[in-house]
Amino acid sequence: KRLPSVYEIGVNFANVDITKEPIPVVPTIHYQMGGIPTNINGQVVTQNATDHNAVVNGLYAVGECSCVSVHGANRLGTNSLLDLLVFGRAAGNHIVDFASKTKSHKPLPADAADFTLSRLNKLEGRGGEYAQDVANDMRAAMQQHAGVFRTQASMDEGVQKIAAIRERVNAIGLKDTSKVFNTARIEALEVDNLIESAQATMVSAAARRECRGAHTVSDYERPVDDAVAPLGRDDANWMKHTLWHSADNSLTYKPVKLKPLTVDSVPPKVRTF
Ligand SMILES: Cc1cc2nc3c(=O)[nH]c(=O)nc-3n(C[C@H](O)[C@H](O)[C@H](O)COP(=O)(O)OP(=O)(O)OC[C@H]3O[C@@H](n4cnc5c(N)ncnc54)[C@H](O)[C@@H]3O)c2cc1C
Repeated sequence: KRLPSVYEIGVNFANVDITKEPIPVVPTIHYQMGGIPTNINGQVVTQNATDHNAVVNGLYAVGECSCVSVHGANRLGTNSLLDLLVFGRAAGNHIVDFASKTKSHKPLPADAADFTLSRLNKLEGRGGEYAQDVANDMRAAMQQHAGVFRTQASMDEGVQKIAAIRERVNAIGLKDTSKVFNTARIEALEVDNLIESAQATMVSAAARRECRGAHTVSDYERPVDDAVAPLGRDDANWMKHTLWHSADNSLTYKPVKLKPLTVDSVPPKVRTF
């Protein structure tokens, strides 16, 4: 009687009457750390032989999908929305500036739509697995192997599981191939996107042999009563950004910029909590 909205949430989302049984609770992601690397103008950057931050002309990313690599600009309470607004504005300004100086478009390549169409077409007419079955297994694998509390062995196992699930994603099929309001098609495409994110997360995490950031890897955890123990965060070897490459499921790294543009640097400290 006194919690009517909670009662309704239980009925609507979990099909549970909370006066008789508990609501199932599943931990979920709050904020995706990392993302598509950008500079402070929201321009997507990539790594090439001579440059760790080469601009991909015309491509921008802001908000949770992006990674501006400004310390504290995301993840912390309120900051993700500030991140979105500050860098969304910066990207908008940059786009307006760029567009106002650019009078004509490059001609579109003749094969501009081919990649998109091939993604759509490969779902057609094959009797593969149902997207949500694959998605459920991907979700379960990420919950089990890439949660907050991790071990090296569990992450290594997760890498294998996610690689196997990626194979299954490549074989997802559509039973209903109608072209209008086909939510099964949208779900299949979403799973195709999600596996990229899952594999990037899993493979990058397992390769990082230290305990840094928002997760705990018990193999490398620093004993709570010993602030100078060699375990925990390993700045000598791991103070670097991980880059995951979808095409061949490989990793490269790039240095962390420690010099802010306008203020003095605050040196990294030992995490002792
Ligand atoms: C439970 C929870 C609590 C949070 N609390 C806070 C808080 O207190 N303070 C705070 O600052 N932040 C908080 N955050 C984080 C913050 O809400 C998010 O970081 C922020 O909303 C992300 O905004 P976004 O526009 O970047 O991405 P989103 O809001 O995720 O928007 C992305 C949009 O893209 C659409 N989309 C996806 N794929 C496609 C596609 N293929 N084609 C077209 N569209 C597509 C999606 O439908 C979605 O509308 C919280 C997050 C969660 C989950």
